[in-house]
Amino acid sequence: MGMGAGTNSKKNIRNLSLEDLTREVLALSQPGFRAKQIHEWLWKRSATRFEEMTNLPKSFIEILNQDYSLNSVQISNNQISKDRTVKNIFNLADGNQVEGVLIPTTERMTACVSSQVGCSLTCKFCATGFMERKRNLDSGEIVDQVVLMNLQAQELYGLPLTNIVFMGMGEPLLNYSNVLQAVKHLTSPDGLNYSYKRITVSTAGIAKMIRKLADDKVQFNLALSLHAANDKKRNEIMPINESNSLESLKDALVYFSTETKNPITLEYIVFDRFNDQISDAEELYQFSQNFPCKINLIEYNPISLAAYKNAKADKIEAFESYLQRKGMIANVRRSRGKDIDAACGQLALKQG
Ligand code: SF4
Repeated sequence: MGMGAGTNSKKNIRNLSLEDLTREVLALSQPGFRAKQIHEWLWKRSATRFEEMTNLPKSFIEILNQDYSLNSVQISNNQISKDRTVKNIFNLADGNQVEGVLIPTTERMTACVSSQVGCSLTCKFCATGFMERKRNLDSGEIVDQVVLMNLQAQELYGLPLTNIVFMGMGEPLLNYSNVLQAVKHLTSPDGLNYSYKRITVSTAGIAKMIRKLADDKVQFNLALSLHAANDKKRNEIMPINESNSLESLKDALVYFSTETKNPITLEYIVFDRFNDQISDAEELYQFSQNFPCKINLIEYNPISLAAYKNAKADKIEAFESYLQRKGMIANVRRSRGKDIDAACGQLALKQG
């Protein structure tokens, strides 16, 4: 809406660090302190248009408008679930779309963001997995989703975001540098100043990149979408497991845990008659013993493309209490936003 032709050729100003910004401002024959002013508008005040930057001269705002785009992501459409979950479809400047979900609970206001347009992994239960991966999002596009959902949270529910999870479309660790750059903007005191503790990056399990996170000493939480703790079953639903076996993931997580001491969560969707037996729970328990972690058991939302169904309630309960009896922190995560296809594994741009 209102996005004129030619937006694509403009540089997304949110991709620039303060240093880059200073360089470019000087090249435009403006005093260096303008960079700081712009940076503050972008990152502290979540400006959505250059016109809001009232301490800049009008003539400079015009120049900025010509050369840069500012908020290249816009909400094109949203749906609100009976449980208050909001699914947003975001328009990107090049015409692509991604989805992001705002999840309000009693103690949290969580934004689930996308990191890629589509996904190159082909998890068999996930609607995004049936789409092609078109491209990586840049860091500005990732942060924009957060900025927009933070405004939305305040408008709809009167509360700011408390948590940010990279669990939308795409595999964050295959867009490594942009995701890390986005986290930097989100957590920097000159930026949005979110605590690392409130940020979780979720991966389908790429051992080499988990090790890289450890080497880079990241400070955010890590979640592994495990879903099966034996290679045969996991290969069946997550082809990425063929080149990243459970053994290699275990070693990578041990390394991550020792190097960073950051919390790890194992995500486990319980599928009907696939991974819902006590023997499966025992395998999950064994896997979880290698490093400190907690377990989220997730209710599945069937999608028409996939053959899997949600496990029966009594099976999920038995699974949970088996793990708890063994001393694990294990919790069932009820599905949110089911009625609007906003739940885990359902993001696929139906009306796209
Ligand atoms: S579950 Fe995640 S990694 Fe797997 S296909 Fe879906 S978006 Fe990609």
